[in-house]
Amino acid sequence: MDISKISPAFSVAGQLSLKELGLASAQGYKTIINNRPDGESDDQPTSAEFAQTAKELGLEYRYVPVVSGQITDDNVVDFKAVLDDVMGPVLAFCRTGSRSTTLWALSQAQGLSAEAIVAATEAAGYNLTSLIPRLNALASSDKGDSSNNSMIFARHSVVIVGGGAGGISTAASLLKRDPNLDVAIIEPSESHYYQPGWTLVGGGVFNRAQTKRAMVDVLPKQVSWIRAAVSKFNPDSNEVTLENGERVSYKVLVAAPGIKLDWGQVEGLEQTLGRNGVTSNYKFDMAPYTWELIQDLRGGKALFTQPPIPIKCAGAPQKAMYLACSYWLKKHDLKNIDVQFHNAGGVLFGVADYIPALMEYVNKYRIKLCFNEKLIKVDGGKRIAYFEVTTEEGSKKIEQQSFDMLHVCPNQTAPDFVRNSPLANNEGWIDVSPETLQHNKFGNIFALGDATSTPNAKTAAAVRLQAPVVAVNTLLALQGKAPRAVYNGYGSCPLTVERGKIVLAEFGYGGKLLPSFPKFMVNGLKASRRAWFLKEKILPTIYFDYMLKAREWLAKPEMLQHTPTDYEARTFDSSTKK
Ligand code: FAD
Repeated sequence: MDISKISPAFSVAGQLSLKELGLASAQGYKTIINNRPDGESDDQPTSAEFAQTAKELGLEYRYVPVVSGQITDDNVVDFKAVLDDVMGPVLAFCRTGSRSTTLWALSQAQGLSAEAIVAATEAAGYNLTSLIPRLNALASSDKGDSSNNSMIFARHSVVIVGGGAGGISTAASLLKRDPNLDVAIIEPSESHYYQPGWTLVGGGVFNRAQTKRAMVDVLPKQVSWIRAAVSKFNPDSNEVTLENGERVSYKVLVAAPGIKLDWGQVEGLEQTLGRNGVTSNYKFDMAPYTWELIQDLRGGKALFTQPPIPIKCAGAPQKAMYLACSYWLKKHDLKNIDVQFHNAGGVLFGVADYIPALMEYVNKYRIKLCFNEKLIKVDGGKRIAYFEVTTEEGSKKIEQQSFDMLHVCPNQTAPDFVRNSPLANNEGWIDVSPETLQHNKFGNIFALGDATSTPNAKTAAAVRLQAPVVAVNTLLALQGKAPRAVYNGYGSCPLTVERGKIVLAEFGYGGKLLPSFPKFMVNGLKASRRAWFLKEKILPTIYFDYMLKAREWLAKPEMLQHTPTDYEARTFDSSTKK
């Protein structure tokens, strides 16, 4: 837990876990203020859970949620009222501590000088210089409606939103091609996750520490890291707004903010996740629970669910199931376990060529396949899952299933700040060309990874091929030229059909098979030991030491000989030559 003391009576922290409330109490804090609205991200306990835990620990708890980038004067009044009402020392938190710090600063504006406030927050690691006009305005006015006074905080040639697989690979790829380029990454998290490893954590092959690195260790050294979350895209002014209201301007923007795991779409799921036999490999801290449940189950009913697509790594819901079955078979328990796969979609896998190899395992493990069945509600206490079933005639009915173990893949959407932005298409995804990954409306914006509109498999494998394409096209855009590098839709899904064997699906746009290796080395249409070796021993190295470091093995972008269209010439002229 990283706490920054701003005054003797007031400290801030990034997102706390429920466990950390106990640590805060042990350190003498009397009051906890939660400034983060519920449901902002998947790694966040609810306010009700915080209230309950605080009560058990004898801590005062207050919920003053503020929307990132939109801290109003009313929010400040509410926050100040809480500070005046509660016992200190107070520990306030939000996603990064930035909103809590900003609220504290604004709440002190009528008592302390702007310089003193900025110095106090600076010492705690938060730079609020851009807030000075608003602090001064508040100091000199009783009402002080100065919420639009935020200044430009920083300017960079290239600004990348998101320090996940896509953001870091692109930064590295840009800097490999131009080591002096001014690149900033805006990323709120202190940790970077190798999410493809979570399937192996849930299958008892990796421990979760192998899938996590400090962000600072994976960021390229030359990159400026802005440790904050973006709340708004302002493509017409070539700026993004951060959650504390500050703005960052760019010549070219690369958006790679990933996908939103929308646990709330299934009623009762969040309340029971991690308990009552309900788990998900889609969460870093939950994957070890999957493995615990697998080992403990000796008989009964195990349900595995898949929501409507698109989702990231569409094979992951069934990978968890096959690894569980493989273990139960080895332990001679599988005959006592009724395994069911409830899929909101109508097929086992989106590319038909791989289905025969998967069906061999479905039959071997005697898995019951239930298509067009969408998980809509979980009653953890009673261990009952509810499904909306679409019949062959197209009508809908609700069916329920009891369970001893339930592995859930959550519903997924574009992140809210993307969905509600001018960058989004009608479905909410960042609207880019499937080939050049250039935004269809804003010529100086590119996007890659899970948040884009492109119809490839949303995987890190796709990002590996997309990053060099975006890097090349970004450098061309900086020179006022049209994009020339193209992406072929490659994505890969290593389906862990048993411990020690994988069906290695590799395909591009339209389901075209794009194997990386000759058939005699790895035949992707059959389960193979070599593909497992690749997944367990080689792919983590390819991710951390190749992809994130721009060693672009088998990822050289295809280049078009291309004359810019009138539209492209106009767009670059107006958006990059400011
Ligand atoms: P991410 O890597 O998720 O990164 C997004 C980043 O954006 C995060 O760091 C986040 O903190 C940041 N961010 C979010 N909001 C903001 C904001 N407001 N401002 C700034 N930054 C923000 N892929 C494979 O290739 N093979 C596999 O076998 C595989 N298996 C998987 C199994 C599981 C269980 C899961 C969950 C995923 C799997 N994947 C697999 C998918 C792969 O991990 C993703 O496709 C990949 O990480 C996408 O990269 P990204 O950069 O788009 O998103």
